[in-house]
Amino acid sequence: MRRHAVFALLICLPVLASCAIVPWFKRTPQQTPMQEATAKPATASVTAKRAQVLMGTMVEITAVAPNEILAQAALSAGFREIRRLEALLSTWIKTSELSMVNQAAGQEPVGVSEETFALLKRALEVADYTEGGFNIAIGPAVRLWNIPEAPHIPSDMELEIAAQYVDYHNIHLNPTRRTVLLEKPGMKIDVGGIGKGFAAEKAAAVMREVGATGGLVAVSGDFRVFGKRADGTAWPIGIRHPRRDGAILATLDSTDEAVSTSGDYERFFIKGGIRFHHILDPETLKPARLCQSVTVVAPDATWADALATGLFVMGPVKGMVLIERLGFGAVIVDAQGGVSISSRLHNRVRMVP
Ligand code: ADP
Ligand code: MG
Repeated sequence: MRRHAVFALLICLPVLASCAIVPWFKRTPQQTPMQEATAKPATASVTAKRAQVLMGTMVEITAVAPNEILAQAALSAGFREIRRLEALLSTWIKTSELSMVNQAAGQEPVGVSEETFALLKRALEVADYTEGGFNIAIGPAVRLWNIPEAPHIPSDMELEIAAQYVDYHNIHLNPTRRTVLLEKPGMKIDVGGIGKGFAAEKAAAVMREVGATGGLVAVSGDFRVFGKRADGTAWPIGIRHPRRDGAILATLDSTDEAVSTSGDYERFFIKGGIRFHHILDPETLKPARLCQSVTVVAPDATWADALATGLFVMGPVKGMVLIERLGFGAVIVDAQGGVSISSRLHNRVRMVP
């Protein structure tokens, strides 16, 4: 995973939400007891927030709990979990399980933890769903482009060579022995498109175990929310405008689900008027050209993260068909800036004028 800090693709919008919601203690005479009961939190809650650079990006966690001690404990547990997963999955850490798997490419199967195995299994499933658009075998090509650390446009020859090592069918998982084998030397797994969602999902789970009633885990553009905010309302999420710096394209209120965005506007360089960004089309090993941004809403953050990357490659038409088939939600901005919203999100997403 990357070493440089990346700003969140999605930003939380507490200000917008607080404008839209009348706090329960200021209820007007028109409010019914039922309205009051639903707006009012069942018990007093406190909110704690912390940010830290982990997995090469900014991680921001908010915890809601019955008291300050529990809220702080939930934050610490969330960050500890992400740090633990980074040590398993980062290919920047030489001793991580995935580094071991990559080092043994073409040689022998490597035993991994249940978690790493589950992540790789899920990644291969998403690869099949997205017709290879999402592909964790993309490592050698990612390394060649090295965006944005050292912008370099690889030659056709370089891409042809890399193409021999990016077939995800050559990643072999053995569930009995819980091992991973990369068939050819030179293959490299890259979980940059799924690892952050996986970490957000796991962090939210441990926060709940510790006693948080609500929370928001934001690992760059991968969000996992659970429960409610301290005032009893849902979590307002903003989707960034892919072409207007700092502007919000749309918002939605979220609870107990994941919202992940992949875009071409965070890590890119422009050469000869062409934008070269970090999501590669496994067919060409060049930046995928059909979208500017894809946001996926799903019950699980691992799915949401991987699908956002995969849909970005598939493009708006095939991508939307897949999301509808899976029963998830998506907001897709196509290459011309046109926005499409999946059926499940029609009533939830508010476009910002
Ligand atoms: P971000 O990392 O900015 O949140 P993504 O979740 O879309 O965005 O992941 C992009 C990362 O995934 C790239 O930096 C690279 O490491 C990896 N990647 C690039 N292309 C693909 C692809 N087609 N399938 C899977 N992973 C990819
Ligand atoms: Mg992703």
